[in-house]
Amino acid sequence: MADEVISNESERILGRDAQRNNILAARVISETVKTTLGPSGMDKMLVDRAGGVTITNDGATILDEMEIEHPAAKMIVEIAKTQEEEVGDGTTTAVMLAGKLLENAETLLDKKIHPTSIAKGYRWAANKALELLKELSFEIDGEDDLLKITHTAMTGKGVEYAKEKLGSVVVDSVKAVANGRILDTENIRIQKKKGQDIEKSSLIRGIVLDNGKANTHMPERIENAKIALIEESLEVKGPETEARISVSSPEQLQQFISQEDRMLRDKVEKLKAVGANVVICQKGIDEVVQFYLAKEGIYGVRRIPKSDMQAIAKTTSGRIISKLDEIEEGDLGGAGLVEEKKENDDFMTYITNCEKPGVVTILIRGGTEHVIDEVERAIEDALGDLASALKDSRVVAGGGAIEIELNKRLMEYSTTLKGRERLAVEEFARALEFIPTTLAENAGLDPIDILTELKGSHDAGNRNFGLNLFANSIEDNLLHGIIEPMKIKEQAISSATEVAIMVLRIDDVIAARGKGANSGSTNPMTNFD
Ligand code: ADP
Ligand code: MG
Repeated sequence: MADEVISNESERILGRDAQRNNILAARVISETVKTTLGPSGMDKMLVDRAGGVTITNDGATILDEMEIEHPAAKMIVEIAKTQEEEVGDGTTTAVMLAGKLLENAETLLDKKIHPTSIAKGYRWAANKALELLKELSFEIDGEDDLLKITHTAMTGKGVEYAKEKLGSVVVDSVKAVANGRILDTENIRIQKKKGQDIEKSSLIRGIVLDNGKANTHMPERIENAKIALIEESLEVKGPETEARISVSSPEQLQQFISQEDRMLRDKVEKLKAVGANVVICQKGIDEVVQFYLAKEGIYGVRRIPKSDMQAIAKTTSGRIISKLDEIEEGDLGGAGLVEEKKENDDFMTYITNCEKPGVVTILIRGGTEHVIDEVERAIEDALGDLASALKDSRVVAGGGAIEIELNKRLMEYSTTLKGRERLAVEEFARALEFIPTTLAENAGLDPIDILTELKGSHDAGNRNFGLNLFANSIEDNLLHGIIEPMKIKEQAISSATEVAIMVLRIDDVIAARGKGANSGSTNPMTNFD
């Protein structure tokens, strides 16, 4: 009957097969990112269709570039995105947990336990875990803890050796920008510059532009800068107004040239009239304009990305003007200093001592683009961690310590329950072991030995004991500064549970065939690559 109602153009998987298929897809995703977890995690090399290469350890980045098509797998990828957006770190953990929750659900399904009971048990377990997290967390205690969080976030990111330096740059940037418990990471800009060592990365209290002044005759340094921010190009003909001009005599040509010259000169006059001594242009600046600007002692810089323009406007209290003609004195931004700096053969513009010093720039250095990109991702993770840590000031012990303690307490909790849900709570608790066992496995340690030892110490009451992969031993990670914001774990547990339950409740998949961008040769239901 159903077959007659649903077009036979669509593909249908029902009941247990649908569940098995979806769970398999989720596990494939979780197994894929698993090898990157923790300080000893490996990197992945991703090659896109155009041959571009990314080398990364970052869960969200890997999944983002993988072009996943399976619908359930896509739901797992969504967890990574949510985790990245909400708390900025812990993406691998969240994805692995979701995969493991589903894998463990499979054993319950095999025992003929209904998905509804599993879902109920999982939800109970997650709620209990969130409650326990609060109980097991600690209040952070000043800058030192922020540094520790940053170090934990950066370990194993291929930037390990510069962790001290980068850590202090990151924490300083946060201190400069944070407003009490609120950290708007938008105010921390990242500027990447190839050349020199990662150790030479630095914090600039202001904005750094990837371009120097447009013309060598312009001044190098402007104190008390009055900055005009112009969106249109400072040229006579924009590409859209290009017109054919026919000239029939030398006089006419001369007249035309001087007319054009006057128009360009007027632009500089306009800037001078409103009192600008710096002009930052989103598009090009004509050479003639450059010449007059230099003559007037105005610093000009061109082809600045819109996002930079907006950041400058914000921190200098200026306004971006789309047409130069409309500019007024009040639109100018203010900065104590605008100067060009030359390093190696590269020129950059530094805008510092700004009117509203709410924006800072982390200038990342590094030998190659791949290194710089990975440094950027590590810094973004750390900033996410710090923003999360500031929000509620709470941290937990890392290296699997919190997962093992939650495992222990959830097992205890399960004994207070009856029925099938109890089995689901136990499976939920076991799923948490996946984090420490993987940390061990990735470091070449025996996961079973480590798990046994960890459980032994937690049973003995050492609730912050975890795997310390600096020392390759099991010890009090709170004491050794391996700490993570509680929010990261909260978010990972809630979103992994939510998605696992959602996937479990699906027992009928109806997929349209022949639709979607890449259909035809690939079937999204069976294509796991
Ligand atoms: P995620 O994407 O989940 O943040 P990471 O690759 O950043 O994944 O790894 C995070 C895990 O590594 C956390 O469980 C954290 O506690 C652990 N970790 C960080 N530093 C250490 C360390 N020195 N020893 C053991 N585990 C660590
Ligand atoms: Mg991380």
